[in-house]
Amino acid sequence: MKPSRNKLSRRELLNAFTLLAVPGLLTSIPAVMAQDSDSPDSDLPLLIEFQRLIAANRILANENVVDAFGHVSVRDPRNPDRFIMSRSRSPALVEFDDLMEFDLSGNAIDARGRTPYGERMIHAAIYDARPEIHSVVHHHAYAVLPFTITDVPLKPVVHAASVIGAEIPVWDIRERYGDTDMLVRRIEQGRYLAATLADNTCLLMRGHGAVVVGESIERAVLTAVYLQVNADVLLQARALGEPVPLNDEEIRLSSATQFSPLAIPRAWEYFCQRAGVDPV
Ligand SMILES: [Zn+2]
Repeated sequence: MKPSRNKLSRRELLNAFTLLAVPGLLTSIPAVMAQDSDSPDSDLPLLIEFQRLIAANRILANENVVDAFGHVSVRDPRNPDRFIMSRSRSPALVEFDDLMEFDLSGNAIDARGRTPYGERMIHAAIYDARPEIHSVVHHHAYAVLPFTITDVPLKPVVHAASVIGAEIPVWDIRERYGDTDMLVRRIEQGRYLAATLADNTCLLMRGHGAVVVGESIERAVLTAVYLQVNADVLLQARALGEPVPLNDEEIRLSSATQFSPLAIPRAWEYFCQRAGVDPV
């Protein structure tokens, strides 16, 4: 019989010896292992999210979606009013001890001297505004940047990138806040950004980068990867001639295929292997 995801993950987690207790977030590891994983009080879903979050950081770094900067977060599976992300650190280097928890105003629950990302307000405001969203990526991917500073729309042009959605709004912090260092440092600025994102999956930030959201961490990461792929293809195509974007029906049908129950684990496993992390 095929093991359940929880049981498989429990064995993997034990074998890998990666279960470092994160003070303030978890009870002791033996206590977690003794829990009934089907119980609503179980910490196991949180541990699995921790591993996925580590993997997400490594994938985004490996695919050059993020460099020294940029970040990814996940909503706490036990408490929808909180989310988890690393302390201020380059995603390629993120480890368990770096993970911090925040409320939906961006306040750290138990900082223990760790410095959070300055732009965590992007994540906080989106989780507050979009209850269905469980993961947020913010990045400055180089291929995406030209579309933040021109009037050329970043439309999906290849089927694998259909998941980025038909509409990608461009947000400009200057319109409301004047001259700034371009970073989203205040929760009001994050809420302004979230309002511009509205119900879309991706948003471009003028002269800065992009935000990608997903109903799961896999979806957010894969969408961020393919947003960059689409931008690369579009830049190359425009040097050859006038690109033909997917139409709305192609986007709808293709994104259902790309995010089917079979396709997501296949893509996640592939990108985990490329990044040198075990798929969880
Ligand atoms: Zn940024």
